[in-house]
Amino acid sequence: MNKLDTALVDSALKAAGFNMTESVKDADVVLINTCSVREHAEQRVLSHLGHLKHIKKSRPDMVVGVIGCMAQRLGDRLLEHEAVNIVCGPAQIPRITELVTEALNHRKKELAVTEKILKPTSENQTQALDDFESSYGIEEKDIPGQAFVRVMRGCNNFCTYCIVPYVRGPEMCREPKAIIEQIRKLADRGIRQVTLLGQTVNSYKYEQGDKTWCLADLLDAAAVIEGVEWLRFVTSYPSEEFFDAILQVMAGSSKVCSYLHMPAQSGSDKILRAMNRNYTSGRYLELLEKARAKVPDIAVAGDFIVGFPGESDQDFQATIDLTKKAGYKNAFIFKYSPRPGTTADKRLQDTVPDEVKQRRNVELLAVQEKISDRLSRTFLGKEVTVLVEGLSKKSHRNLTQNGSPQLVARTATDYIVVFNGPPTLAGRFVKIKITQTSPLTLFGQPVEI
Ligand code: SAM
Ligand code: SF4
Repeated sequence: MNKLDTALVDSALKAAGFNMTESVKDADVVLINTCSVREHAEQRVLSHLGHLKHIKKSRPDMVVGVIGCMAQRLGDRLLEHEAVNIVCGPAQIPRITELVTEALNHRKKELAVTEKILKPTSENQTQALDDFESSYGIEEKDIPGQAFVRVMRGCNNFCTYCIVPYVRGPEMCREPKAIIEQIRKLADRGIRQVTLLGQTVNSYKYEQGDKTWCLADLLDAAAVIEGVEWLRFVTSYPSEEFFDAILQVMAGSSKVCSYLHMPAQSGSDKILRAMNRNYTSGRYLELLEKARAKVPDIAVAGDFIVGFPGESDQDFQATIDLTKKAGYKNAFIFKYSPRPGTTADKRLQDTVPDEVKQRRNVELLAVQEKISDRLSRTFLGKEVTVLVEGLSKKSHRNLTQNGSPQLVARTATDYIVVFNGPPTLAGRFVKIKITQTSPLTLFGQPVEI
């Protein structure tokens, strides 16, 4: 979501004549896109702002803006920060060019946050967001050949630990026509993989005349667009609704990637209830079973929060048990971070000491690593098709004799694959023979280029 917002702001500013610089010291304007999901992310922003305040002592004309969820959460409190000129929440980003221009020209502080964020956005504002989304977002090609398309904004779920509904507002599904049109434009510009985005993307629903569109319909409609080769969607909420229809499209279409990111958050039914997640661990595993029965090659990724208030050793053991049964390709594991204003923060004591959260985090990661390693090894000697992203982080240290750098790519099932080859492969599909594996990475050689 944040990567997409950054790309949208980037292209809006480019369209208005601004250029991106590589270094803060050359910048007239510095924008920080922020996340509020965990406290640590916010602390990092504050430390960046401290640094910028220092730089502004010698360059007082530099404009600093904070955009995104932290901007919405803290509003004018953030604007009081000495370094900050602009505070702009996620629903206000269509105004970014105007805000930056105002701040540059008039040197005043600019606040753009949504006042009643828990209420649905007005039609005008929704239209502004949609126009912004559809007309920009097609320029940014950080990863060649790939793009994100938001199909819904906000969230109605109010998981008790989560800040998202308070900073991104209620769930709002975009009109299918606008989404499909946007994907068509992206395909015309050479995009080969589109990832549909939503906080609970599988609950996408749009009433149009007699028809109710669900995510499966969107995937179906997107799959026939010429040029689009791979379609993904994140993140899925563990729910029955539309699940069969989505799996059916996945099983039946070679374009819909066999990949599901479906966070469980905990394996303990007591903790799941306290989190206001509307499923039990048993029900969650049944959904995975169903997915595997319908799409045998499906790869599943999960999220967990360890150290939620009241999580006992027994509850944590239930999370380990679920992880072992779920057979995730990988899992993102977070230590519970109390977020101001959420139900968990208001009603529950953060009872689990940090060292216990840390220990559980390490333990769960170790359990998951073994599972990831076992699954990765099944690829040894096999050929996989990957979409190449570009140079790997270690590209310059890992040159072959003929000077080919190391590239990074992904399979349709989201496995990371690294291999040596010409950088011109970025954005293209290549067949790779896997020769070596680690828990989170497959290594190989191109079979044909
Ligand atoms: N909408 C997605 C869902 O429901 O699964 C996830 C959205 S959230 C931005 C991404 C992940 O952050 C969550 O799956 C959860 O594991 C984690 N998360 C959210 N709030 C958290 C908190 N207060 N402390 C720690 N982790 C948190
Ligand atoms: Fe947050 Fe829950 Fe909504 Fe996901 S479903 S964004 S965790 S409130």
